[in-house]
Amino acid sequence: QLQKPKLILENGLRTDGRKLDELRPIKIELGVLKNADGSAIFEMGNTKVIAAVYGPKEMHPRHLALPDKASLRVRYHMTPFSTDERKNPAPSRREIELSKVIREALESTILLNLFPRTVIDIFMEVLQADAGTRLVALMAASMALADAGIPMRDLIAGVAVGKADGSLVLDLNEQEDMWGEADMPIAVLPSLGQVVLLQLNGFMTPDEFRRAFELAQKGISSIYALQKEALKNKYLEYKEE
Ligand code: UDP
Repeated sequence: QLQKPKLILENGLRTDGRKLDELRPIKIELGVLKNADGSAIFEMGNTKVIAAVYGPKEMHPRHLALPDKASLRVRYHMTPFSTDERKNPAPSRREIELSKVIREALESTILLNLFPRTVIDIFMEVLQADAGTRLVALMAASMALADAGIPMRDLIAGVAVGKADGSLVLDLNEQEDMWGEADMPIAVLPSLGQVVLLQLNGFMTPDEFRRAFELAQKGISSIYALQKEALKNKYLEYKEE
């Protein structure tokens, strides 16, 4: 698509039929992989990410182990079939950057000092991309860590807010991400009210920033409720077994 499409239609709805402050449908599944210590699939509309966690386990080579806490090795990756045009499977600069910001968010969430000298491996594979993959990947990782029983300060919930045709919109789709005036992914620890990831691409006035942040908070509380629900259901399953 070479020309900017209309992002907000005459009826005030978005190209995918959503209201300005409406999230895409969310689906969360825990324990989807037999061989990982923890795993999850997280879907937000058409964006779909699977995450797998291994560890905490002994760090090899040993000299890389940190004496006072666990190390995190984090990989965000897009599968070749996740995008319109086949994505080269080699890690791009973008994937390396996203692996780093996701690692930093996880480092401030996991209680790493409970597991000195160990390593935790976290893999995220984007199965289908329709914007917001860094946040869906981060939430998939957070759910997989919970599934692995790794202690954290809170679950991580996140959503992108932005500006499309001059209006603030919640949970951008790919068209809005590509053609909108601003795109701001935000991830927080909802119970603690702490931000663990915030990036901004594009332009917003300070007032728009404040309103966008509030809009994100609203979305995040709905997402957080669904995350807790998914976790609770998984525990009930264990109990029944
Ligand atoms: N995208 C793509 N190919 C790429 C990178 C991105 O098709 O190599 C699409 C994909 O839908 C992605 C969106 O562009 O979700 C926005 O990418 P961005 O870098 O803003 O990160 P994201 O919103 O996924 O966190």
